[in-house]
Formats: sequence, structure tokens, C-alpha cells
Amino acid sequence: MADLPKADHYINGKWVKPNSGEYLETINPYTAKPWMHIARGNATDADQAVAAAKMAFQNPDWAGLPPTQRGALLRRLGDVIAEHADELARIEVQDNGKLFAEMSMQLKYIPQWYYYFGGLADKIEGAVLPIDKPETFTFTRHEPLGVCVSIVPWNSPLFLTSFKLAPALAAGNTVVIKPSEFTSASALKFIELFEKAGFPPGVVNVVTGFGKEVGEALISHPDVAKVAFTGGSASGRHVYSTAADSLKRVTLELGGKSPNIVFDDADMDNAVKGAISGIFAATGQTCIAGSRLLVQESIHDQFVEKLVALAKTAKMGNPMEMTTQVGPVTTHPQYEKVLGYLDIAKEEGVTCELGGGKATRPECGDGWFVEPTIYTGVRNDMRIAQEEIFGPVLSVIPFKDEEEAIAIGNDVVFGLAAGIWTQSMRRALEVSKRIQAGTVWVNMYRALSYMAPFGGYKESGLGRESGQEAIRNYMQTKTVWISTAEEVSNPFIMK
Ligand code: NAD
Repeated sequence: MADLPKADHYINGKWVKPNSGEYLETINPYTAKPWMHIARGNATDADQAVAAAKMAFQNPDWAGLPPTQRGALLRRLGDVIAEHADELARIEVQDNGKLFAEMSMQLKYIPQWYYYFGGLADKIEGAVLPIDKPETFTFTRHEPLGVCVSIVPWNSPLFLTSFKLAPALAAGNTVVIKPSEFTSASALKFIELFEKAGFPPGVVNVVTGFGKEVGEALISHPDVAKVAFTGGSASGRHVYSTAADSLKRVTLELGGKSPNIVFDDADMDNAVKGAISGIFAATGQTCIAGSRLLVQESIHDQFVEKLVALAKTAKMGNPMEMTTQVGPVTTHPQYEKVLGYLDIAKEEGVTCELGGGKATRPECGDGWFVEPTIYTGVRNDMRIAQEEIFGPVLSVIPFKDEEEAIAIGNDVVFGLAAGIWTQSMRRALEVSKRIQAGTVWVNMYRALSYMAPFGGYKESGLGRESGQEAIRNYMQTKTVWISTAEEVSNPFIMK
């Protein structure tokens, strides 16, 4: 332990040792070796972080900032992130196994969340109501909530943190971030940038450790007003019910089992590319993975042939190399989980067209790699079609016609995203209307933007992140009534 760097919590603008005195190993998934240690947080650490955020919420240096200046701070933060993009990308690759090529792009894009919500900070206007009472002036104002907790998973740490942080800060709240115990390193570098950008201490804090320990203490803390959570469905349910005890506001971004639907009138080469990026980008570890590929029967065999041919060309290996196209699975438990689903697929009797096991190519070294895997002969009621695998595993499901495609597409508990490949405008509009998903892409897949609301239907979540409406999740409306009457009327006479 002595040789590896050790990171503490970041509370009130300072590095703070964990009260437990304990640290957790964080492992590079490409080498399968620990490379740093993070603080193992507990309820006392959570208390300290929430107290700092509560104090900062009341501090005139933050609370007294006019929204225009708050917005300017956010935009400055965007600039500082851009200046540190390369360093942050390298940390994320080492900690998470994400491709450097993807992280370089992501870090060029992440500042946009801070520019966009920084711009929105001074455009949240209340209204003067044309109220139905005489001699009364009534208006609304939108106020921040207080201390907000951002709980983030391991699959896209800085990106998903920014989805939460940018609107929370633009609205004037203060924040405690709890990154995943598997991938906290980037948040611990990122947090240093707040001081550089000029944020007062305590406005943003980071505590690290297990969900069941420090996370649990945050979601049940009486001084926390709002929890924004991204993660698995089981944890999401638990967060929701725990936060309900103290009636906290909650937004949830949970899992998905998204249908990527290819009709026989689609441009086949484009659809093949869309199907591949839908499942093998980020090694399939994205909530929006197009993990159910629905292909119209009339083109099924030809499509699968092209799909397998392209998937076979995927270059696996060191995620730091710009030419690598599929990296390792981020965590060892997730690696085991994905391999477990490959066994389930065998038991379910599907046909393995590609992959189906650990990747033992020399360029994968000791890393946690799974071969890009494509199954055909999958029925939608099978476990591999219904359960989120969160790895590079694609289930191809044939369908007859539009009605059946929609029925299969919707026959799942999730509703995060969907793809539609067709050249028919009527079909694109009709199917996108009837598919139960928070995001639908037509002739494209996997696009996200700071401007576009993102979130789930059904069990994929509650509320939306990004886009203008996201800031409302971090505000509450106050209605102010002012009498302009010279005399208060007799309280015993009803008017
Ligand atoms: P997870 O639910 O295990 O953990 C997510 C975060 O929640 C971690 O920081 C964890 O420490 C914390 N946590 C866990 N239990 C907690 C508790 N009782 N109290 C407070 N915090 C707790 O998920 P994961 O394994 O890190 O991430 C993978 C999952 O996240 C996948 O299922 C994926 O679909 C989902 N995900 C969804 C989206 C989305 O936007 N919808 C995005 C990314 C990931």
C-alpha cells in the first residue's frame, strides 16, 4: 500500500483523511493491478461533507452571488476543465479502462455542460401572476434547494457527474459528490479545478467509499435536499425509498435494455455501423447500449453476416492506444457478471455467431477483456434479452413487421433509449411515437447533448438530465403575495 498514491476526501476546500483511517484499492482494469488508494468513507465523513456544503449554501460568497456571476464561474470552470482535459482523460483511462480516444472526445465536450448551464443561470425568471384577487400583487421566484448529493456509477464518471453538477450549481445549490468506489480517481482530480475556477470552499465536495457506507449516510442525511443518482436498478430503488423517509427530491438514471430496430428498408451498411457502435462502444458498458438488435426477418441473415464481419475487425488492447477500439470491462465483479451471462446464453440455447468468452488475445494481457459477442436465435423472453448485461454482448432478435417490432421493443421493464433504422419518414415518426423510451434515435445511435433532455421511461428512471428542464430539478418555486390594500379587511366577513 505504501508505494501507491493515496487520495483523501475533499471537503470544504481541503483534503481530509477518512475517519475510518482506511483506504480502498482502486484497480487498473487493463493491468488488473491496483494503482492508487481512495479513502473509505463512513457516516462521519458524510456528516462533515454535508455540513461543509450546508455552510457554503449560506455563505454570502456563494449565496450572495448574482446569478450572472454564478454563471460566469461555471463558464470559467468549463475553461479550466478544457485546460486539464488531457490529464483528466489519462486518469480516467487508467482507472476505468475507457478508451483514451473516447475520453479525449468526452473531455472536449464536458465543458459544454458548464457553458450551457452557466448561460442558463441568469435566465430562470419568475412571473408576475395576473392574480384573481383585488389589491394584490403576486409573483413567483425560483430558488435553489440547498445541499444536493450526486451519486455516480463507474461507467462514465466525469460525464455523468457533469450531468448533475452543472444544473445543480447553476441553480445556486451546493453539492456533495459520491463517485463509484471502483472509479473515484478522476473526480478527485476534477475537484481541484473548482478552486482554480474560483468557487468558494465547500460549494463542491467529494467523499469516496462504498455505497452501503458513505453513500447510505448521504441519501438518508436530514440536511440533504436532493439526491441525483445514476446506477443500477436495485440501488436506484433503494435510494428512492430511503430518500423518501425524509421526503428528499430524487432523480434517477437507471439501466436499460434498449432495442435497436432495423427495418428491411434501412440503409444496411449504415445500420450495421449503428448496431456495432450501439453495443461495442465503451465495451457495452453504457446504460444506452443497443443490446437488443431487432432485425426484420427478410434481411436477417444478410444483416447478421455483415454485422459479424465488421465486429470481427474490432481491435482490442491497451485503452491508452489511440488505435484500440474495444477496451476491458471496468471492474472485476462486472467482468464476472458478463461471463456469467455468456454461460446463461449457452443454457438458453442461442447461437453464438461471434465471441462468447474471455478475450485471450496477447494484446489483452492480464486485463478483464470479453470478446465482442453476438448471439442469434434469441427470443425476447430469454434472460439475455430481458436483463441488463452491461458488456459487449449483443442479442439479435428477428421480427416480422412493424407491429411486432414495436411489441418486442416495448416488452421489457426498461425504457431508456431506442434506435430505428428505416428510410420511411412515416415509419420513423410512427415507431418513434410508439416506442416507450426517453430517447429515440432514427438512423443514428448513441448521441447525447447538453441541450437534449435525457432520462428513462418505466424502470429506467425518474426525471431528466441535460436540457433546460434539468435545472428545474434543482430549484423550488416560491409564490409571494403582497397586499396593496390600505386596510386589511374584517377577518369575520368572507369575501
Ligand atoms: P450501482 O448502482 O452499484 O452503483 C452506482 C453508485 O451508487 C455507486 O457510486 C455506488 O457506490 C452507489 N450506491 C450503491 N448502493 C448505494 C446505497 N445503498 N446508497 C447510496 N449509494 C449507493 O451501479 P454501478 O454498478 O456503479 O453502475 C452500473 C449500473 O448503472 C448499470 O446497471 C447501468 O445501467 C447503470 N447506469 C445508468 C445510467 C443512466 O444514465 N441511466 C448511466 C450509467 C449507468
